[in-house]
Amino acid sequence: MTDTTCSHIEAIETIKRAKHRQCEECVKIDAQWVHLRICQECGATLCCDDSPNQHATKHARASGHPVIASAEPGERWLYCYPDEAFAEY
Ligand SMILES: [Zn+2]
Ligand SMILES: [Zn+2]
Ligand SMILES: [Zn+2]
Repeated sequence: MTDTTCSHIEAIETIKRAKHRQCEECVKIDAQWVHLRICQECGATLCCDDSPNQHATKHARASGHPVIASAEPGERWLYCYPDEAFAEY
């Protein structure tokens, strides 16, 4: 496994955890999600690209918040959108 880190990922000292086991945006519109991701800038819990609404990606594009972490049990990784960098921790 080759980790491709970037300055955004390297700047993270404490990984934010999911506050709730639900996508904050999907619950507002009564939508379904597949997996959850956590924005490492603001801590928002949002759904992955396999989910119909892809809220984590939309949030990253709209807000400019670069890094997400997986909120799934047993998954320990970070992803940076602008650099397309992936790192396990
Ligand atoms: Zn980056
Ligand atoms: Zn969602
Ligand atoms: Zn954010």
